[in-house]
Amino acid sequence: MSDASASTPGPDAAVPAPAGATHPLALAPVIGPASDIDGFVREFLLNLNFDRGVALSASSVTDRYFALAYTVRDYLMARWLEDVRRAIADDAKVVAYLSAEYLLGRQLDNNLLATGLADIATEALAQCGIDIADLRAAEVEPGLGNGGLGRLAACFIDSLATMRVPNVGYGIRYEYGIFRQTFVDGQQVEQPDSWLELGSPWEFPHPEAAQTISFGGHTEKYDDDGVERSRWVPGWNVQAVPYNLMVPGYENGVVNTLRLWSAKATTAFDLRIFNSGDYEEAVRAQTYAENISKVLYPEDSTPQGKELRLQQQYFFVAASIHDLLDLLGPAFDLTRLPERVIFQLNDTHPVIAVPELMRVLVDERKLDWDAAWEITQKCFAYTCHTLLPEALEVWSVELLGRLLPRHLEIIYRINEEFLDEVRERYGHDLIRLRDMSIIAEFPERAVRMAYLATIAGAKVNGVAELHSQLLRDKVLPQFNEFFPGKFTNVTNGVTPRRFVRQANPALSRVITDAIGDGWITDLDELRRLEPLADDAGFRAAFAQAKAANKRRLDGVLRARDGLALDEDHMLDVMVKRLHEYKRQMLKVLHIVTLYDRLLWGDPADDAPARTFLFGAKAAPGYTMAKRIIHLINAVGKTINDDPRARGKLAVLFPPNYNVTLAETVIPAADLSEQVSLAGKEASGTGNMKFALNGALTIGTDDGANVEIRQLVGDENFFLFGMSEPEVEELWAKGYHPTAFYQADENLKRALDLIASGAFSGGDRSVFEPVVSNLLYDDRFMVLADYASYIQAQDAVDVAYRDSDAWTRSAILNVARTGFFSSDRSMRDYIDRIWHTPPLA
Ligand SMILES: *Cc1c(COP(=O)(O)O)cnc(C)c1O
Repeated sequence: MSDASASTPGPDAAVPAPAGATHPLALAPVIGPASDIDGFVREFLLNLNFDRGVALSASSVTDRYFALAYTVRDYLMARWLEDVRRAIADDAKVVAYLSAEYLLGRQLDNNLLATGLADIATEALAQCGIDIADLRAAEVEPGLGNGGLGRLAACFIDSLATMRVPNVGYGIRYEYGIFRQTFVDGQQVEQPDSWLELGSPWEFPHPEAAQTISFGGHTEKYDDDGVERSRWVPGWNVQAVPYNLMVPGYENGVVNTLRLWSAKATTAFDLRIFNSGDYEEAVRAQTYAENISKVLYPEDSTPQGKELRLQQQYFFVAASIHDLLDLLGPAFDLTRLPERVIFQLNDTHPVIAVPELMRVLVDERKLDWDAAWEITQKCFAYTCHTLLPEALEVWSVELLGRLLPRHLEIIYRINEEFLDEVRERYGHDLIRLRDMSIIAEFPERAVRMAYLATIAGAKVNGVAELHSQLLRDKVLPQFNEFFPGKFTNVTNGVTPRRFVRQANPALSRVITDAIGDGWITDLDELRRLEPLADDAGFRAAFAQAKAANKRRLDGVLRARDGLALDEDHMLDVMVKRLHEYKRQMLKVLHIVTLYDRLLWGDPADDAPARTFLFGAKAAPGYTMAKRIIHLINAVGKTINDDPRARGKLAVLFPPNYNVTLAETVIPAADLSEQVSLAGKEASGTGNMKFALNGALTIGTDDGANVEIRQLVGDENFFLFGMSEPEVEELWAKGYHPTAFYQADENLKRALDLIASGAFSGGDRSVFEPVVSNLLYDDRFMVLADYASYIQAQDAVDVAYRDSDAWTRSAILNVARTGFFSSDRSMRDYIDRIWHTPPLA
């Protein structure tokens, strides 16, 4: 790597020198390359020549991308080394964010932005005859997450670095991230995402800091100087090798760490089998061990993967806990652990960390149970991300006991003591005991991870006001009553660095020209745009930025997928994971209704031309979701091929929706579709990204939509559909979708058109299961909200015709949604849950 000529600041006296250092350059991390164009060119060429081993004239785009990444990385490196040492040296409290997913998106642009090097790099490369855009496009994004939950974790660590909060993000370095989606004849086909094929310039392996993680075996009791103790005698183990990624704050010199664990077979294990002469067995064992970090599990996947998934969960949290304890050192007084670390559990995936910490404290560090439990209860906090009962994770006692026998014993004891307390409070109320037990008895004995997290966590939070209220009142009411004050809310947020400043340079310029650039780290500043909604000049600039973003998207779609976007169309966007509760079908029915109207309706109808853009992956085992993808593509093809629809309706479905695509789609959108059944979407974060980029929302009163509408005002939001109490009422009364079908002529026509085979070459069988599902078996009540949705969409058409008023509303959406910065979410976590002061 670029060896640094310490040109800029010298050794920092505040940082203690490594013991034994004598050379002046060893007194502090070496400061990286010069931050001017000549210096940048020099470092870039050094990296190209000495790290990639090629001359500029012979270099490939990949070589150049790596050399550029190294140059940016070197610049961050000095600060990174310093921050790691400082966090340990100071008595700072560290936020250890435990998440099975991080949907990071591309790193290059983000790191250029954070370092303030974007302009210098662009110019430096131009002087080398290179267009930086070509190098940006060469980066494969690390897709180490499924959707919102993983992207939230990525936004949070960005905010923590920007706010100077000491933080380590812990997760798994999946060798294959979320699959790459392609369409064949309109149907989803999954390809492996081999994001590491060419290597990644952003990760640093640290095999010397590997942890040994055990599984299986049995437990035994033994006499420890008169005290009876338990110990775990594991059956097998693997190495967890950490890979560090830099998480730079925005232009503040802070670099935090994302530490992702990779599984590697232990050599001892291999050797034993090798020496016995069984080469094939040794290779098989190695493959078995290394499978742990091989693939990211798509949600709703098949049970075959379950055992591996529990292995993954334990693997990464055990490694992370031991890593943190190693950082604190062997002499650290563990009763002070809650002063130095808070483990934030991102959903139930990392909850097995609770019995692991107990095991370390009781079995390994020999604390007595009560002291260990008191420490543990202060070190964890739990974020719940769902309301769907089937998404609340449980592990069968059989599996957990086989894989982690000591942990099962610990969970049993936690449960016994907890149920004793319940008995003390309420008497021997069997129903209550059954409803609060960590162990479910039916349909099989299983551990309820959400209950374990709730009992162990110092705090439990939902992710939007409505969600937190439903958590307290409907999902975990017995725990809310038992633990007054434990439940709280932190509404999700998104990072304005990536999702406005980086994704939307056109709008960013318009904003910064008007109010300066303070908004990038203080998004409430956007409020100052409010009066400018009435300024014709500002509206024109704002509308021009939107138009430019549509042209940019058109260019990206042409190059990526051979698709084209008409800049004069209203761009109506629904991008998110495909799930029945998110109700992509409602959008399909609207499109089919408009198509039907176009063919048979009033010829004088002058609705604005619309392009519908979808982006959505379906979990590979989720058949209904895959059928819906097929239907969207089929409807799209029929409409796009029909000359009667030309210039009026178009449907685009670029495959493989990911963060990179989100960054060009969202800034171009006019209308944001957030149409989940009320009471099902915990928060949503896509909804926030759209509002912040000047799209108007059509949405139900669900998740964070509720807060968006309250902030932007009813007149700048298209609300439709049942409220959560209305949904409950209809469900209790009995939902009969056929009644809605019979009563609404438009709905009947739309469903009949799909059922007739009009979108499947006359074959009625292809989409029959989708139609039947809506008519006879739909938990998400699509048909009940259809009429209200169509009415709201007609109001959208009317509103869009007054382009000045529309732009005014769009500006007010931007001006009033600064609340949804993930910086604000982090402040809420700090105030309500973590109590970590920022670094001085
Ligand atoms: C923001 C984001 C999501 C979450 O979208 P929702 O509409 O909140 O479900 C999913 N995937 C990607 C790539 C995102 O950027």
